Amino acid sequence: MFRKILIANRGEIACRIITTARRMGVATVAVCSDADRDARHVALADEAIRIGPAPVAESYLRGDAVIAAALATGAEAIHPGYGFLSENPDFAGAVAAAGLVFIGPPAGAISAMGLKDAAKRLMEQAGVPVVPGYHGAEQDTGFLADEAARIGWPVLIKARAGGGGKGMRLVGAARDFAAELAAARREALAAFGDDGVLVEKYITAPRHIEVQVFADAHGNVIHAFERDCSLQRRHQKVIEEAPAPGMTPEMRAAMGKAAVEAARAIGYRGAGTVEFIADGSTGLRPDGFWFMEMNTRLQVEHPVSEAITGLDFVELQLRIAAGQPLPVTQGDLRIDGHAFEARLYAEDVGKGFLPATGRLDHLSFPPATEFARAPVRVDSGVRPGDAISPWYDPMIAKIITHGPDRATALRRLEQALAETQVAGTVTNLAFLHALTRHPGFGAGQVDTGLIARDLAALSALPDAPAGEAAAAALVLSGLLDPPGTDPWSHLRGLRLWGGGEVPVTLLRGDDRIDLRLTLEGGRILLDGADLRATLQDGGVTIDHAGHSRRFGLARHGDAVTLFSPGHAATFRRHDPLRRDRRTEASGDALISPMPGLVTLLAAKPGQSVAQGEVLVIVEAMKMEHALRAPRDGTVAEVQVAQGQQVQDGTVLVALEPADG
Ligand code: ADP
Repeated sequence: MFRKILIANRGEIACRIITTARRMGVATVAVCSDADRDARHVALADEAIRIGPAPVAESYLRGDAVIAAALATGAEAIHPGYGFLSENPDFAGAVAAAGLVFIGPPAGAISAMGLKDAAKRLMEQAGVPVVPGYHGAEQDTGFLADEAARIGWPVLIKARAGGGGKGMRLVGAARDFAAELAAARREALAAFGDDGVLVEKYITAPRHIEVQVFADAHGNVIHAFERDCSLQRRHQKVIEEAPAPGMTPEMRAAMGKAAVEAARAIGYRGAGTVEFIADGSTGLRPDGFWFMEMNTRLQVEHPVSEAITGLDFVELQLRIAAGQPLPVTQGDLRIDGHAFEARLYAEDVGKGFLPATGRLDHLSFPPATEFARAPVRVDSGVRPGDAISPWYDPMIAKIITHGPDRATALRRLEQALAETQVAGTVTNLAFLHALTRHPGFGAGQVDTGLIARDLAALSALPDAPAGEAAAAALVLSGLLDPPGTDPWSHLRGLRLWGGGEVPVTLLRGDDRIDLRLTLEGGRILLDGADLRATLQDGGVTIDHAGHSRRFGLARHGDAVTLFSPGHAATFRRHDPLRRDRRTEASGDALISPMPGLVTLLAAKPGQSVAQGEVLVIVEAMKMEHALRAPRDGTVAEVQVAQGQQVQDGTVLVALEPADG
């Protein structure tokens, strides 16, 4: 086994790899950008090397710097994690050329699967079922439109270099084809530097089922069963599970066999995932699944398979890379129970899931095990106080639960999400919690369209629990300080507000909440009924009109966040003197609503624009966000360039001030 390895990644996956390495007695070297000097993965590793400034192109994507760091620290092998350099055959080759071991497949196997079109042709030859479509080299718009018509509408356009759903467009009819193709090409070029596409039949009610494989250098190839990743939003996985609901032993055997054949066909080594699409509308059938692509690395969602097999996949990766034979055979593997994983992100669900940034002023999870199998497992690369920066993926944590059956594992997930608390940034926690309560999902009726169909209900802000605003008002007033004391002793504080009727104005986001508390004979009344509150154990209990409720509580800066199951709300005291920078600038400027990349700039100084005209497209987390002219006018200034990374709140384009 290696004595020391370098991890060419950051965040939760770097931390997860370090944990297994440490357990195996393998020393670890982290790499970091300037933005990550104080990051958790740096603190966890035995050593860390700075490899460049914050932008990924100048740090985590710099293979030369990573290899130099490994050589300088005496690391014998490099684990690429996922993303970044993990599926870059040139990097895998350069690692080997430097006399180091790449903890992953040979460069040739990565290349074989690197482009979706070539991979599909190869799989067809290996006898693996593939979705009907055009996977060839011809890229003429008219030609592709003819192919699409031949395949039959609807079709899916995919970037051949694609990943993470980028550059993917669903087209329902011939008239939309050219425009969607142009958009797919633009996204693909910006994301992968390659605008080649393929066109394939769109499977209605598709299910995404993927099979985990391992291959060692001794000719052993096994599969560790399937995961169902059908719960997606815009082709991005949201909650994954293993095994797949409704899977039959026949279909599992057929899929496992196809995945093992796919791995053998390309001389695979290490951990990999073969992704298939199944037609959910007809039920799972051994002849109803098709190869989509192979991910030649560890997947984000690998913990659900670890949970049901009891294996540590990073340990297997290290053993295989060190030349050891697989410690288990196919016959040794059994499915034990059921597991789910939910991806907790800093993102604003109400604003179309815009990626968010912020400092995690408060972060707390239910009792859980980290990076190892348990009924509740939390894999996270951040700690309380860490920032979610605009530079990297805004993932906060993966929350993984395991149980003897699907219903138990799902209830555990619901409970674990209910007990998770984040303050300082918006998150998708309420959305994830709502998903765990979705009746169709609960019944195992999953397909990739489920979230889109029920998006409104799933992303609706839950009603604020009664008493929440009153609790916030009492906490923000300082009435309940110091913690643990009875509010009655602080009534003098209330007197300072003026006594009698006390108006309190709170802000929850942009919403103003007016409350009237009444002081009467030593009692606090809200809407005429007694209001009592006690602080204890990081929470506040509110007793109002005979109903007692407990909220989790975090104070940060001038704000307070209250938590109830699946719900978090941050309140501030209203300060009439504070101006909102968004309203200040609106009307005359286009401001980036999120950190992202400017993929289109259609404004020049002096240009006349009409209200509603798209002037800038900012892309972040696989989503395009069009910024339109707020009114008719003339462009005064353009403060960005196409291809530039921008921060949330940056003024991109300013208009000449309106007349008068
Ligand atoms: P990426 O590499 O960008 O993630 P994939 O090829 O893995 O792209 O597909 C991502 C998701 O898109 C799948 O999980 C599935 O939900 C959907 N998808 C892909 N191909 C099809 C298809 N032919 N029909 C319907 N949905 C599809």
